[in-house]
Amino acid sequence: MSEILVNTPGMFFANANATLPIDPSRVLDTLVTNLDGMAYRCRLDAQWTMLFVSRGCLELTGYAPATLIDNQQLSWDEITHPDDRVRVRSMIAEAINANRRFAVEYRILTAVHEEKWVLERGMAVTDEQGEQVLEGFIEDISERRQALEAVAQAELRYRHIFEHASEGIFQTTQDGHYLAANQALASMYGYETPAELIADLAELDRRLYVDPAQREKFRRLMAMQGKVVNFESEINRRDGSTIWISENAHSVLGLQGEFICYEGTVQDITERKSYQAQLEHQANYDLLTGLPNRNLLNDRLEQAIFQAARRSYFLALVFIDLDNFKFINDSLGHDAGDALLIEVARRLRRGLRTADTVARQGGDEFVLVLNDHYQVASIISLLERVLEEVGRPITLMGRDWQVGASLGVALYPTDGEDSQTLLKHADVAMYAAKARGRNNFQFFTQEMNRISDERLQLEAAMRLAIEREEFSVAFQPKVDHQRRIIGAEALARWHTADFGMVPPDRFIPIAEETGLILPLTELILRKAFAAASRWSQAPGQAFSVAVNLSPKLFLDYKLVGFIAELIREAGLPPDRVELEITESIFLGDSGRTLDILNGLKRLGVSLVMDDFGTGYSSLSYIRRFPLDVIKIDKSLVTGIELEEDGAMIARAIISMCQSLRKTVVAEGVENQAQFDFLHYQGCDEFQGYLIAKPMPEQVFADLLADSGGQM
Ligand SMILES: [Mg+2]
Repeated sequence: MSEILVNTPGMFFANANATLPIDPSRVLDTLVTNLDGMAYRCRLDAQWTMLFVSRGCLELTGYAPATLIDNQQLSWDEITHPDDRVRVRSMIAEAINANRRFAVEYRILTAVHEEKWVLERGMAVTDEQGEQVLEGFIEDISERRQALEAVAQAELRYRHIFEHASEGIFQTTQDGHYLAANQALASMYGYETPAELIADLAELDRRLYVDPAQREKFRRLMAMQGKVVNFESEINRRDGSTIWISENAHSVLGLQGEFICYEGTVQDITERKSYQAQLEHQANYDLLTGLPNRNLLNDRLEQAIFQAARRSYFLALVFIDLDNFKFINDSLGHDAGDALLIEVARRLRRGLRTADTVARQGGDEFVLVLNDHYQVASIISLLERVLEEVGRPITLMGRDWQVGASLGVALYPTDGEDSQTLLKHADVAMYAAKARGRNNFQFFTQEMNRISDERLQLEAAMRLAIEREEFSVAFQPKVDHQRRIIGAEALARWHTADFGMVPPDRFIPIAEETGLILPLTELILRKAFAAASRWSQAPGQAFSVAVNLSPKLFLDYKLVGFIAELIREAGLPPDRVELEITESIFLGDSGRTLDILNGLKRLGVSLVMDDFGTGYSSLSYIRRFPLDVIKIDKSLVTGIELEEDGAMIARAIISMCQSLRKTVVAEGVENQAQFDFLHYQGCDEFQGYLIAKPMPEQVFADLLADSGGQM
């Protein structure tokens, strides 16, 4: 035995004292004897017949070494667990063939029928007689096996929890790469397997979180607290759909406190979120009509007051009470009543701008919050529309019903500066409307009611006046630089028995808001064209007529056909017609505006930019649109002979128009100095009190006849 080990390569003994030689075989003998485990030499036969067995055999197998030598009582093959014998033999045989060491783990059965796991290591060697034998060492590894198995079992259990958890579980790096993810997380995020998720998902700021700032917030919380608790975010799934999640996570640190990864769990809380949203909706919206309820109304009203205060706008709060609701509800039943409320809600909503709010206060009461009105006139038009909308017949149970509404209006800031006061005063005004015979609106203050009444009366009178053609046309002459009359601008005039002379700046806005502008324009143009066709009959003389078109008319492509028809009807050569437009037509859909202007141009008329110098006065409009004439506004002409600033602007406009080959007209010319200055600068045509005030058609016709057109 000792020789074998002495011959083992790499083993040597330090000789510390040369005078006292150490006996290596004794040292080895002690070692082998005292080792936990058993050293052996055996034959390469079927029973592993033992030639040498160390003392550790007894401890390992329960058998004394002597019982094994030469298989006196039993062989090692018999001690080897029957199920492992074939495997052990084949592994050892393989090692011998390959001429290398072997190491094999297997079970043995001890003298007391106990099963033990052993590790056998060894190799084939040639003995002193030149025969092949096996030498090796067998040790008990049962405890180590058990410990490893326990670890494997534990890991299996944890893996099971990880893989089958209903919550998503993850580990990520700080820069957002996944180190681990379980199936639940993969499924939640729309991946087939965790491997797919780990391979695909990175750049979490942008790809995972709907709000990219969430990832930064996650990192900040982690840095500050080392964890996040119930961290809620909306995230993108792989297919582009979104869900809400809640994360609980912490930083995993190494032994030295170094960062290793983030680790945590993820829960899908989409359902809870949508339930919350639903509850919120129920708390803020009326279930029947879908309109904001009293709650949300108060909120919106507070906001609207704040905004109106900041921007110095009017804010109107309107209380609406339906006039026939109780009757319909009682006689047709609740279902019909509900259908009525739903329909009224729909009509109210449709009539408003998006900035406005319509809420259901309860029962048949609605409330409007109208924002950003800078004049009472536009509120009045809106309320008229509301009355008209609600007043249209509503079909219930196969029959048409007429439902009116009484409206009470309180204005911020005149009728109250806080929401409670405004609501109270709108309510008071609503009762006044009821008392006044229903289906009307009342303001809280009398002054407002007076203005509103007058306006409504004016509107009614205007309808009648248009129908009866009571509007007349005045003509203001226009001359060239030699003061020869070349035409006139037609101006609408309205004299009423009730209101006296109503100036255009009062009736034109009402006409524009109520849609009366179209019939009014038709009336004025018809009269103006008819008159102009009579002046043009004089041979050798061709006077043009200029008419004004409201920007509102440019909302409709039909304008071209409408003008063409009126010119044709009057039998007037189109080159005698000038259409005056203002810059505000360019503020809307400029594609449509250009189409309409080109259409008008093709009729053969001239296009005039009126009031130039008051609005945006953009050079680009003049370049882009087919305009023939630029009319310098009166406000620029006033004082032109006295103030250098005004003179400079006029000079610039005139020279600009000349270089663009546009005719320049000055209006509001009141004295000779202005005329001379403008003439000197190159202005082509002149209009104003210096030449003549607007005059009735007959007076203008006489002027043409008497003076031959010289002023
Ligand atoms: Mg004009």
